[in-house]
Amino acid sequence: MGHKNIVILGGSYGGISTAHYLLRHVIPVLPTEDTYQVLLVSPSSQAMCRQACPRAMISDEMFPQEKLFVDIAPSFEQYPKDHFRFIQGTATQLDHNNRSIYVQLNTSTVPETEKIEFHAIVIATGTSTTSPLLGLNRDELYLHQQWATFRAVLPTAKSIVVAGGGPSGIETAGELGEFLNGRSGCFTSKTATPKVPITVVTGGSQILPALRPAIAKKAEKYLSDVGVTIIKNARVKTVTPSGAGIDIIDSKATLTLDDGTILTPDIYIPATGVSPNTGFIDSALLSNNGRVETDNTFRIEKAGPRVYAVGDVASNVQNTGVHVILSCIPILCANMKRDLLLYTGKEGVAVGSDRVFKEDLRTSQMVPIGRNKGVGEAMGYQLPSFLVWLAKGRDYWLWTTANVWSGKQWAKES
Ligand SMILES: Cc1cc2nc3c(=O)[nH]c(=O)nc-3n(C[C@H](O)[C@H](O)[C@H](O)COP(=O)(O)OP(=O)(O)OC[C@H]3O[C@@H](n4cnc5c(N)ncnc54)[C@H](O)[C@@H]3O)c2cc1C
Repeated sequence: MGHKNIVILGGSYGGISTAHYLLRHVIPVLPTEDTYQVLLVSPSSQAMCRQACPRAMISDEMFPQEKLFVDIAPSFEQYPKDHFRFIQGTATQLDHNNRSIYVQLNTSTVPETEKIEFHAIVIATGTSTTSPLLGLNRDELYLHQQWATFRAVLPTAKSIVVAGGGPSGIETAGELGEFLNGRSGCFTSKTATPKVPITVVTGGSQILPALRPAIAKKAEKYLSDVGVTIIKNARVKTVTPSGAGIDIIDSKATLTLDDGTILTPDIYIPATGVSPNTGFIDSALLSNNGRVETDNTFRIEKAGPRVYAVGDVASNVQNTGVHVILSCIPILCANMKRDLLLYTGKEGVAVGSDRVFKEDLRTSQMVPIGRNKGVGEAMGYQLPSFLVWLAKGRDYWLWTTANVWSGKQWAKES
């Protein structure tokens, strides 16, 4: 009888969902000659609704904190003790040839690394944002510290610049605009001076490039109503001091744009995309876009058997997002079940056949602009502002996350 580790890296939508799904629907059907343990590795002891960051960064009053941040380990107490282990730590090296992962433990006061040999591994380490205000780039304590620094400087800020015209940048600008300036009625959109002018700098010719131009225009009007102006076709070329907005949240910044414009905001928020968390993976396993090269069965073929990736870190999905990840989990786990059963010598109908992910490439994107307005498209159809508010703007999807973190989302095998 042997002990087999199924390691999952990342404590967010991809990792936590995979862990619940395996514990509910896969581990119980594996032959009992071996014991299997799911090990979930995450730098943070809590999962969070990352989508809510553009509003949550402003104040703890914005959301019930116990729903926004949820302890990971207790959500897994529902499973047999020996089937699950939570490790608060950061994967520092994947040795795929020797099928080991090295994890630096976050719970230890002295640097301590654990080497774990794996039977199967799922990489779900997602992405980091340039601004540390927009997600769990490290652990929850770090995020709270960044928010505290930001909140301390916000009341005295006389101007803010947000770089990036994608959803994160636009949502952040809209939330800050409404919070600091209110919505028009207090001032007319074109002529009045907002209390705190907010500028979005975007390299594109329109904001929200995934949406139709007419919808982007509507977003601009909503933004203008809360004191946000847009500079298009320009990128931030230099930032002084260089860590402003990244390492130093409360620093005034001098920004030089590539068209020569100079901006000097009291707060600078770079919301310019994300970078995959793949620093611990051999570059031979990465694709051109820096993500892990993953096929549509979620296997990383180059890494050997039973090595998988899912979520924003995986290369096989173009339009990342939580709804997409949730549609990937049953397919990934069906293929893992098949591989794990094949290893035990089972074959034919007992193991089922491979399932293949096919992405829906129609545009689906909702962008709240403050607490009452928003723009969006779902499966290619324009959504009215009210529907964007109803689905997302009310609480940035917080109404959906309890089921994901608790595993209820995966009550049935699908
Ligand atoms: C500001 C913002 C707003 C968003 N809004 C929306 C939205 O409205 N709708 C939507 O569908 N999507 C939205 N997204 C995208 C959505 O948040 C992501 O698609 C989703 O979080 C990806 O989940 P994931 O599990 O792949 O990775 P992530 O959520 O990125 O989580 C990765 C996890 O891996 C951990 N990790 C990182 N490195 C390591 C390591 N070396 N070892 C172990 N663990 C590690 C991290 O701590 C984290 O727990 C938004 C993203 C941002 C930044």
